[in-house]
Formats: sequence, C-alpha cells, structure tokens
Amino acid sequence: MQLRFVGCGDAFGSGGRYNTCFHVTGERANFLIDCGASSLPALKRLGIVRNDIDLVLITHFHGDHFAGLPFLLLDAQFSRRSRPLVIAGPEGIETRLTQVMEALFENSSKTKQRFELSVVALKPEETRSFGAVNVTPYPVIHGDSGGPFLAYRIETEGRIIAYSADTEWTETLIPLARDADLFVAEAYTYDRVVKNHLNLATLEAHLGAIRPKRLVLTHMSDDMLERPDTPAHTAASDGMIVGI
Ligand SMILES: [Zn+2]
Ligand SMILES: [Zn+2]
Repeated sequence: MQLRFVGCGDAFGSGGRYNTCFHVTGERANFLIDCGASSLPALKRLGIVRNDIDLVLITHFHGDHFAGLPFLLLDAQFSRRSRPLVIAGPEGIETRLTQVMEALFENSSKTKQRFELSVVALKPEETRSFGAVNVTPYPVIHGDSGGPFLAYRIETEGRIIAYSADTEWTETLIPLARDADLFVAEAYTYDRVVKNHLNLATLEAHLGAIRPKRLVLTHMSDDMLERPDTPAHTAASDGMIVGI
C-alpha cells in the first residue's frame, strides 16, 4: 500500500506547496487524509480518480485542511459520482461542512447528492471502522479556533499509519504513532517554538519514545524549507509516494 502526498504545504502556501491532503491506497483501502483548500486541483494534477475514494478523514476545520471539501463535493456531483462517500472528522463536522459549503457556493449544502454521502463525527480515542480502514483519533493541541483537533492512528491491511495533524507537542503523539509503519509528522519550524505547532527539535527529542518505523515530515514553513542543510529525516514534497 502507499501514501501519496497530494499536498504537504502549510496554510501560507510556503514553497508553493498545495494545502494538506494525503491519498492512501492499498488492495481495498482508498481514502484521503485532510482536504485543504487547494486539494481538488492538486488531485487532478496527479490524475487521481476521485470517484474511487471511499473516505475523507478531516483532522480539523482550518482552511488548509478542510476547505477543499466544497470543491471535492461539487466535482463529485458534476462528474456524476455514484460511489458512496464518507467524510469523517471532529465533533461538529456536519455543521462546519454546511457552513463552508454555503460560504463558498450558496445553496450547495441543500443539493441532494446523486451519491450516498455520510458525514460522521469522531470522538477521541474511540476506534471506528470504515470498511477495511480502522481509525483511532487522538486529541491534539492547536489553539482556540478551528477545533476540536484530532490526530489519527489508522490501521489498514496490516499496516499502521499515524498523522500528527497540526499540533504543538503533546504526550498523546506517543501512543498515536508508537511503532507505526509510517508516521507523518508536522515539522513547522526547525527549533523555533511556535505556539500551536510542532518544531523538528521537539519532535526529535521524543522519537526514542515513539519509535516509528518510518518518519516523513510535513506542513513545513519557510523556516524549514529554506534551511540550506539537508534535513536528517525525509521531508514530504507534493506528489511524493511512500510505500508502506
Ligand atoms: Zn495547517
Ligand atoms: Zn491548523
């Protein structure tokens, strides 16, 4: 199975990167993790068949992780999608989805989809199964607006994928990503402490407790991207494929 970075940018388009969106595919699994504002053009650029995607997991309601959904849903409607789609995310997702649909395309939230659309609210540390994909959300810390904030530990086809989402350091990242086959972790800055975000130095200090089998850094600001030295860890880039 594989995870493809459709977009690995931050909210500011640092480095010209698309907003956060990862595409995971296996023998049975086909889902997105986050769907930031620029995700539909990013998906189309990579030739990803949107109609095959069964599930979109949303970590929080900031635009760079969530605001691609109206475009994705309109595209599904206009391309005559028939396959059911599940959108799952933090508590309040039904209301937030309606609000963002109405803000961007008036009346779009009232359109009856041609396909079955389910919107599911997830609770921290309650595992939910979506077909072959078992999802355990962990609460993370990312400020006062745009929450609740969830990181995901995902078990599918015998593999574990963990994604930190946007968060400052919190001990929940240890059970989230312990021994994961792939840990995708925010590295917003190198060692500068920025409230609500994770820096690489802090993450590195805890890697011994987390012990991921593979680590890939994402959501990097200019502070990370413009460093002259090559990072000691794999840094994501848009379009990059990681085999799991
Ligand atoms: Zn973000
Ligand atoms: Zn955020």
